[in-house]
Amino acid sequence: MTRAVIVGSGMAGLTAAAYLVRDGCDVDVFEQADHIGGVTATLRKEGFAWDLGPLLLEGFAPGEPAGNILAELGCADRVELVRGDRGIAFPDYRVFRPAEYLGPYWRRERLKEIFSHEAEGLDRYYRFYDTMLDLMTLARQAEETNVLRALPLKLRMALLFNRVKRYQNWNAQQVMDHFFSDPKLKALFLGILADMVVCPSEFVGLGIPAVNQEAAFDNRLPPTVSSVGPRVTFQYVVGGCGNLVEAVAGVIRENGGRLHTSRPVRRVLLEGERVRGVELGDGERREADLVLVSGGARECFFKLVGREALPADFAATVDDVPLMESVFMLHLGVDMDPSPYQDVPLNYYYGTYDVEGGVARTRHADYHEGKDGFLIYIPSFHSPTMAPPGQHAITIYTIAPNKLEGGWQARRQEMVDKLLHEAEKIIPGLREHARVVVSLTPVDFGQLTYMLDHHSFGGVCPVMGKGGASYRTPFEGLWFLGAQSESAGGVHNVTHGARNVFNTIRKTL
Ligand SMILES: Cc1cc2nc3c(=O)[nH]c(=O)nc-3n(C[C@H](O)[C@H](O)[C@H](O)COP(=O)(O)OP(=O)(O)OC[C@H]3O[C@@H](n4cnc5c(N)ncnc54)[C@H](O)[C@@H]3O)c2cc1C
Repeated sequence: MTRAVIVGSGMAGLTAAAYLVRDGCDVDVFEQADHIGGVTATLRKEGFAWDLGPLLLEGFAPGEPAGNILAELGCADRVELVRGDRGIAFPDYRVFRPAEYLGPYWRRERLKEIFSHEAEGLDRYYRFYDTMLDLMTLARQAEETNVLRALPLKLRMALLFNRVKRYQNWNAQQVMDHFFSDPKLKALFLGILADMVVCPSEFVGLGIPAVNQEAAFDNRLPPTVSSVGPRVTFQYVVGGCGNLVEAVAGVIRENGGRLHTSRPVRRVLLEGERVRGVELGDGERREADLVLVSGGARECFFKLVGREALPADFAATVDDVPLMESVFMLHLGVDMDPSPYQDVPLNYYYGTYDVEGGVARTRHADYHEGKDGFLIYIPSFHSPTMAPPGQHAITIYTIAPNKLEGGWQARRQEMVDKLLHEAEKIIPGLREHARVVVSLTPVDFGQLTYMLDHHSFGGVCPVMGKGGASYRTPFEGLWFLGAQSESAGGVHNVTHGARNVFNTIRKTL
């Protein structure tokens, strides 16, 4: 029987473990934290529950890519999902979904009302958007089918691609400059890049539609808006993302796999060019034919494997993986009703239109203390069990640099107060009504995920021409997966990446 060790119990590690155990492997998952799930865990305190990390998941509905993975693993029926969306507010305008559904292009029309001088550019942008979304749909269809059936799809893609080919080397700023002149409008489509801590000048222009899918802004938008095929939708996990973790973990346990918490892996054991197993924090050695590591790329290759064991060119690719910065996060349990101020689960509030400058400052350890923007997520709106009756669970967070002058631990309370001060401009009374406050600094996130030198909240930073560390390593039987691998971050990406790794391994088993 093939023995597999999985390092890390985030959604990447768990998904890979579930596929392997169902395929007959003897599987052990080692997690350094005292709980499984990585950043997809649900945090609980005094009757309140919050998502530790991800909130809005892409493509988990039945028939969508990540939904198909849950179905393949046989646990789709254990995860209750509800369609989600988000609103966006800037200092001078906001684009919140209207009370009545106004069709798939309501945002375009709303933006024309606000930016009447950009009407022609908006029409052109939305044609570009539709082409890109159709290309994404066709690419998904081609990936899910056999070579023969993929051929006509690829031909169709090539024809469609001709329409957008001229933008292929442009960055996001250039694409926005091409369609619009008003910096306030450009910021609407570029704002999400701040969440990825990537500058518009670094992000691939053709990627702008993918990170601004209209379904993410209105949960009533039907997936079938194009004749090419259904587009993906966005979901919240009812009761918190920990329920998704438990569903996949259940598959592992039921098939004889073992999940070990508070068990860090400190070395990957090699023999020549083959993996032999792992050494745990207490010195125990576990032999294995396969070792799949998730978590930090540099932590995996330079600490667990050792730089000296790596071919220089491979080590250089790991050095070159661009990483996002971290987040500063507050979880509040409040005994008030926030709905007069925010009546939907998720809104992003931006304080600046200068995305390029904001990201650059964060990269240079210049924390904006909430002034450049934050999001407010109220999971108890879609899942009332996440708070005691009549009360609410609220998460507020901002992107934040790993390093802060004076240190995160020493300045924790100051940063809590400053972020609450900004958030109270949206929901007054938060401080007075907070019965529970849990703060998580980048240092806390680093410890939670074992990325002690540099916590990257979303994994690989999507800089043009760069990418994550490859799944395949220089050592037979050793694989790398998760948010800092070639899949990049995002729950849908890491689950998909784990499945790709499994499929590749399976061909060799
Ligand atoms: C605040 C936040 C918000 C996010 N929002 C979204 C969102 O809305 N939508 C979305 O799709 N994605 C979102 N993401 C990104 C997404 O959650 C991650 O990219 C994805 O969940 C990463 O999964 P993973 O398994 O690669 O890593 P993780 O979940 O980090 O799991 C890795 C695990 O490996 C363990 N580990 C590492 N090294 C070792 C070792 N040596 N020994 C033992 N264990 C080890 C860690 O402790 C950790 O538990 C968000 C992330 C954060 C943090």
